[in-house]
Amino acid sequence: MEHKIRYLKTNGYVGFDSLPSKYVRNSVKNGFVFNIMCVGESGIGKTTLMNSLFKTTFESDQDIYYCNHTTLKSDSYDLKENDVRLKLTLCDTVSYGDDMNKQSSLKAITDYLDKQFELYFQQELSLKQQISKFQDTRIHVCLYFICPTGHGLKPLDLICMKKITDKVNIVPIIAKADTVSKNELQKFKQSILRELRNNSVRIYNCPLDEPSVTQLNHELNSLIPFAVIGSTDFVEIDEKFVRARHYPWGTVEIENESHCDFVKLREMLLRINTEDLKEKTHFLHYELYRKTELEKMGLTDLDTENKPVTFRQMFENKRVHLEQELAQSEELLRQKFELKIKTLQETVNRKDDAMMLKFRRIEDELMVIREKLEKERKKLNEEIIDFKKLATQHKKMGSSHNLLFFVG
Ligand code: GDP
Repeated sequence: MEHKIRYLKTNGYVGFDSLPSKYVRNSVKNGFVFNIMCVGESGIGKTTLMNSLFKTTFESDQDIYYCNHTTLKSDSYDLKENDVRLKLTLCDTVSYGDDMNKQSSLKAITDYLDKQFELYFQQELSLKQQISKFQDTRIHVCLYFICPTGHGLKPLDLICMKKITDKVNIVPIIAKADTVSKNELQKFKQSILRELRNNSVRIYNCPLDEPSVTQLNHELNSLIPFAVIGSTDFVEIDEKFVRARHYPWGTVEIENESHCDFVKLREMLLRINTEDLKEKTHFLHYELYRKTELEKMGLTDLDTENKPVTFRQMFENKRVHLEQELAQSEELLRQKFELKIKTLQETVNRKDDAMMLKFRRIEDELMVIREKLEKERKKLNEEIIDFKKLATQHKKMGSSHNLLFFVG
């Protein structure tokens, strides 16, 4: 039955307008979680940019994820700004692209992203669910650092972004943008976007459906890929210390919007679109992972006729299907077993018969030998008797001859 919503006017104050403030209070109490992955070769300015973004110096500990040579190093920090707590996880790709086998660099990154999805998925599936206490480590944004060559993307950049395009929100940034001239930068940005489009790499685009930030997000989208500069140094300008890079020919202020897109990147990441990045991570990338994993387990939300089924129904169907499969395999096993026993029995019987035949043949041969021996024994006995008779006769004949001799 279609569920229709009717709009009603209340005649007095009810109090549910305080629901958002309750939500805000809870969120402030629990703190916000935000996880950033920085992908880029060593020395491209990842650490410096993170320190500049959060206006601090991140100390790293030893939570390291090894995979061949490329290493994913993730560190979590608790930051506080006006009583709002941010549980921030920064994941850095150490030695990215340094090893000869580029595939291992890519595998380390995709494995890490999948591993974080898997941890969340296990939480969802576990009977003792503790999602509210669970520290979500899914990566909400991947800052992809592009080398400021001015020419375009390297093959590894394209392959890597293509691999992770369905797993994470990619925000491409041109690192060390102070090394590219203003004119070159525009052409560079265009060629990067063209290459990404031609290779079907989907990057993050700020949403335009929220009226309060549509204009701002339009502007932010037009700046992608953000050209950024990072610095840990402070330079005094107009009696204020600002983060900047000081060169013999001048000073580049990282927070000066005419120098680079650093401020816009920070607004996009940490002020305007943080929630959208998290929502897209959950509803787009994680959903895709979850769907694939459930399908791998043989679960689906459509029946055999492509009609939607409830989860309970699906499990029931699955149970019936598994039981049928089990009964079939049991029957198959039983038949196989019986056939094997029958074959064995036949073999044993055949061997028995052959043995019997052999035994009888040997018995017959023995009988013949025995009869032959018996005959020979009889013949020998007769010969012995004859011989004894003859001997007795001879004896008798011999003694009478002797008597005659003596008498004579
Ligand atoms: P990581 O290995 O990617 O973390 O790179 P680091 O942040 O350690 O930076 C490596 C070197 O690049 C350091 O000497 C930084 O001062 C320098 N660097 C960082 N950001 C910039 C930048 O925006 N422009 C320039 N010219 N150099 C930078």
